[in-house]
Amino acid sequence: MAMIIMASSDKKKQELFDHLSLGEINSGTFYGKWAKPSASKQIASYSPIDGLLLASVTPTSRADYDHAVSFSEKAYLEWVELPPPKRGSIMLKIGQALREAKDDLGMLVTLEAGKTITEGRGEIQEMIDIADFSIGLSRQLEGSVFASERPWHRMMEQYVPVGPIGIISSFNFPSSVWSWNAFIAAVCGDTSIWKPSSKTPLAAIAITKILSKVLETEGVPQIFSLVTGSGEEIGSRMASDRRIKLVSFTGSVNSGKKVSQLVSDRLGKSILELGGNNAAVVSEHADIDIALKGVAFGALATAGQRCTSTRRVIVSNKIYSEFLQRLVRIYKEVSVGDPRSTGVLVGPLIDESATAKFESAISEAMRQGGKLLAGGTRAKIQGLKGHYVKPALIEAKPDMEICKTETFAPILYVFKYRDLEEAVRIHNSVPQGLSSSIFTRDLLESEYFISHRGSDCGIVNVNTGTAGAEIGGAFGGEKDTGGGRESGSDAWKNYMKRQTITINYGKELPLAQGVEFKI
Ligand code: NAD
Repeated sequence: MAMIIMASSDKKKQELFDHLSLGEINSGTFYGKWAKPSASKQIASYSPIDGLLLASVTPTSRADYDHAVSFSEKAYLEWVELPPPKRGSIMLKIGQALREAKDDLGMLVTLEAGKTITEGRGEIQEMIDIADFSIGLSRQLEGSVFASERPWHRMMEQYVPVGPIGIISSFNFPSSVWSWNAFIAAVCGDTSIWKPSSKTPLAAIAITKILSKVLETEGVPQIFSLVTGSGEEIGSRMASDRRIKLVSFTGSVNSGKKVSQLVSDRLGKSILELGGNNAAVVSEHADIDIALKGVAFGALATAGQRCTSTRRVIVSNKIYSEFLQRLVRIYKEVSVGDPRSTGVLVGPLIDESATAKFESAISEAMRQGGKLLAGGTRAKIQGLKGHYVKPALIEAKPDMEICKTETFAPILYVFKYRDLEEAVRIHNSVPQGLSSSIFTRDLLESEYFISHRGSDCGIVNVNTGTAGAEIGGAFGGEKDTGGGRESGSDAWKNYMKRQTITINYGKELPLAQGVEFKI
């Protein structure tokens, strides 16, 4: 039975931890078995809701890291022998286990990452969705057949598994981003080693505990290994490790560049899912109610800590005053507080350092000529020592340097435009290229925006905001966002090697391009 905590209490937290088999000190290393936790060196997981310690985690030692990778290599040799649809049937069980644990895991995400209850559950739902998707995919891993120029020849392309992959994930999606990679890779035949953010290790431990039981019951290899520790230490070790055939990295542009360099140094493969600086264009032809809701959700949900959060809104000068007036009202009225309480839309930032970055970006925006229209200060929430802020709405100029950087906090810059060409120029004038949207009912405008003349992002939306993607399409962005694609569509191909195969079933050996070779 799932348990819901609506108020802070040690007893309720203890019950949740009992359900999820979490202790005060937890091992952060799993490779078919849990490495022994030790009290000597710990990663502390604090709740951003009240700043209190949730539990501690023993990080992975150098020796255990090596065990985890060699274990994953061995597990791969067995797992890869299962036909893909059989792998898919294991994903069915995994999806069932996640459905049963949805409320508990969702609450853990709320406690550890500070998401509202609905967002915490939504994250686990996303894991369930990708598990369901991967079941279908397991019967659709396809190849191609091509016409050969040589008689009695056949040419094909097929995809084969790569081996153990590494998944390094960010704090703001402590569970779903891992599953986008791990579940798709699993039906492709790969095993995986997960290094979660040190800010949210408990979700990773709880998930690994649940799923390892499923794999054990099903009598299949333990394909999901777990390591914990700092990015500089464990993360870079994974990036440099030739045994790890692919590194899927989700995080900031700065960390992603370091990972990408280490992986390229060994000519390895990586998937980079890095920061965004997403904008919504609001045309004079928009349905203003829809646009306001889309922009507000994009900018305020998860306290502006989504890679797809709306950070810039570019508004037509014909509706600018009306739109801004209504947006200011939303900002002034939005409820900031304990994300476990109903009615609260904006929870805390992850930690003090995020709050300091929020404050310094606002000062910088003021210095560069911005005008603060609402919010922009710390928020005091009675009885809670979390990291709460009042989301900031700032009227700005698109060429201000601060508007070109991703501040991982709820700051929304507002710009005015005269025509759509100008809106798109402003839109594309940042180094990042993750998500974008236009609010308009004018077909010509929306077509322009989704064409090559329009948004330069990996995700382009019409009449829905920049945040909140579904798993069915490929997810990822261009430019500094790193070019990676995960989740649905044909993103599975990233977790496999492509082989081109030519078969001669004739009695001669004709050579391509008519080349002669007489012996
Ligand atoms: P971060 O870069 O600080 O950390 C992400 C992960 O990388 C963590 O596990 C961390 O330990 C590890 N890491 C840090 N430095 C490393 C290094 N040198 N080598 C190897 N690993 C290293 O990011 P964060 O603060 O956890 O997350 C927020 C960032 O992630 C934002 O920029 C956000 O836009 C981005 N993000 C992107 C996506 C996407 O799909 N594009 C999704 C979620 C978050």
